[in-house]
Amino acid sequence: MAMVEAAYQHHGLDYRYINCEVPPEKLADAVKGARAMNWAGFNLSIPHKVNVIPFLDGLGESAAVMGAVNCAVLRGGKLIGENTDGKGFLQSLRELIDPAGKSVVMFGAGGAARAIGVELALAGAKHITIVNRDQKRGQTLVDLLNDKTPAHAELALWRGTYRIPADAEVVVNATSIGLYPDVDARLDIDVGSLRKGLVVADVIPNPPRTNLIKDAESRGCRSLDGLGMLVNQGVIGVKYWTGVDVDPNVMKRKLEEIFSA
Ligand code: NDP
Repeated sequence: MAMVEAAYQHHGLDYRYINCEVPPEKLADAVKGARAMNWAGFNLSIPHKVNVIPFLDGLGESAAVMGAVNCAVLRGGKLIGENTDGKGFLQSLRELIDPAGKSVVMFGAGGAARAIGVELALAGAKHITIVNRDQKRGQTLVDLLNDKTPAHAELALWRGTYRIPADAEVVVNATSIGLYPDVDARLDIDVGSLRKGLVVADVIPNPPRTNLIKDAESRGCRSLDGLGMLVNQGVIGVKYWTGVDVDPNVMKRKLEEIFSA
């Protein structure tokens, strides 16, 4: 991914980041190859995030709870599976608010929602309401949070226009609503229930200024876009592999260049 290479070049890091397409039946061989070549680690995408686990030597705390890995890291000769999806989000969120003890409303129950929900819960969020259309997917995430984290989670089925409860302190869109090319799409929520001071975060990185972000800002909310989350995910991955804290702005500029092309 050009974003990571841009950081390597900027900081003079003698590393490369290359994309390899690995078919599912070759995943075990690919991990063996990475070990044989002494790679510092690698990112994984769908469909490998769950299936890679048996080929690794251990898991970080949140990856173990999620049962999904998007980043493998060589530590002391062992390949450890981490998940940076939610960690990137958390790093962005902490610039505005500490989630400990807070009530969160999160839209969506897919992979992004699972990663964010688990990180929020491990960071001490008190109450997490999952708002989702599909009951089964929503309930699966609620059960995971209740069974494996200290947070209390509940499901609100998304039927018609949703009103943000008055006691919510953080609202997260973890659905794909608003992702390019469906840039005009809007979450079916009562915009009037977005009250001043509420923190509203959107996972959509492209375009970062979604209708949700615009609506939230017009209501006096504090907002966080998905571009920052994506950049932070890269920053955390590079820190894991190289030990170096890279400048997020270098990665952000590269992503903006790619998205505007
Ligand atoms: P999934 O397909 O796993 O889940 C999508 C979720 O969105 C489901 O819960 C689905 O609901 C919901 N959804 C989709 N369309 C609608 C709609 N029209 N109305 C209501 N709910 C809807 O996707 P992921 O979780 O993997 O990814 C979600 C988004 O997160 C993507 O757009 C991706 O770009 C973004 N993302 C951003 C990252 C970042 O770093 N900024 C990192 C990872 C992802 P249902 O279950 O009812 O079908």
